[in-house]
Amino acid sequence: MAYEGMVCDYEEDTFKNYNEFARKVGFSVHKDKIYIRADGSIRSKMFVCFKQGLQKEDKLCKNTTKVCNESRTDCKARMIIKNEEDEWIVSEIVYEHNHVLANPSKAYMLCSHRKVKDEHLAKIESLNATGITLVEGFNYMVHQAEGHQNVGITYVDYKNALRK
Ligand SMILES: [Zn+2]
Repeated sequence: MAYEGMVCDYEEDTFKNYNEFARKVGFSVHKDKIYIRADGSIRSKMFVCFKQGLQKEDKLCKNTTKVCNESRTDCKARMIIKNEEDEWIVSEIVYEHNHVLANPSKAYMLCSHRKVKDEHLAKIESLNATGITLVEGFNYMVHQAEGHQNVGITYVDYKNALRK
């Protein structure tokens, strides 16, 4: 859960919390503006709903899916975090969305929840090295994670990871 006044030691933790919250609710988070102090340090950061703004195509989403391609609705849902001394504080959070939220069981398909992490990559590469097919490899990961919703990546991600 992410809420106003939440304090974290690390900026990454605030993002993780918000991202996790977003996954449960059914939207995807994009990192947005960064405000810098005169000394170059970060004063605050803004994370927004993926439907923020009115641009039709989102260049951040390379592995496009239907969800990523949907046009934006200028949604105002967002979270702003402020850096104070050594801590990061959630200074503003807007919960309301002006669009239908994704079914939580499908939220893992949204962009910010579909990053192929190093741990995935290592697994994918070792599976591929055994000589099994892409489908077999992906199914093995699904089986190990006990379900598609727990794998964190899609079959397309799996394939793309090996193409790089
Ligand atoms: Zn939204």
